[in-house]
Amino acid sequence: MKAENSTKIQFDSLSVNEGYARGAAAAFLARYDPTVPQLADIKTAVSEAVTNCIVHAYPDQVGPVYLSISVYPDRQVRITVADKGVGIPDVAQAMEPLFTTGDPEERSGLGFAVMQSFMDRVRVLSRPGHGTRVVMTKHLSEKESST
Ligand code: ATP
Ligand code: MG
Repeated sequence: MKAENSTKIQFDSLSVNEGYARGAAAAFLARYDPTVPQLADIKTAVSEAVTNCIVHAYPDQVGPVYLSISVYPDRQVRITVADKGVGIPDVAQAMEPLFTTGDPEERSGLGFAVMQSFMDRVRVLSRPGHGTRVVMTKHLSEKESST
């Protein structure tokens, strides 16, 4: 199915840009009247995916992060967060709750678990040395009729 509307942004993998990405997603989706809980879920999932690019994808440098959002006519929302960073050698292991390669003082290894619980579907494609792409979908509930 062809998207009825879409957007793409690119930004540097700096932690200051996490809020920008979350806000951009919310602003773009606002015109579809998502429920408050649904919008909160999407913002949290975007935040986790973008934070992973910032923290893990480019360990010793700043690199590009790509966020794209598409809305389909049946109110299906598809969000892609991608980077050209180090990649993930074992995606299944990385997605296990509590698995982290980060500093255990700072990271809890729950980012993917959060994305999976707040979105309908999460797919992770990664090639070590080339980057990672996280594709998340969620169906927005139908708008309440105003009558
Ligand atoms: P938390 O999200 O709870 O702070 P975390 O980021 O370690 O901790 P997840 O978000 O579940 O937990 O990610 C699990 C692991 O997957 C990370 O520790 C990292 O090894 C790897 N990973 C996730 N995203 C990327 C990415 N974009 N590039 C490279 N590695 C990644
Ligand atoms: Mg994380």
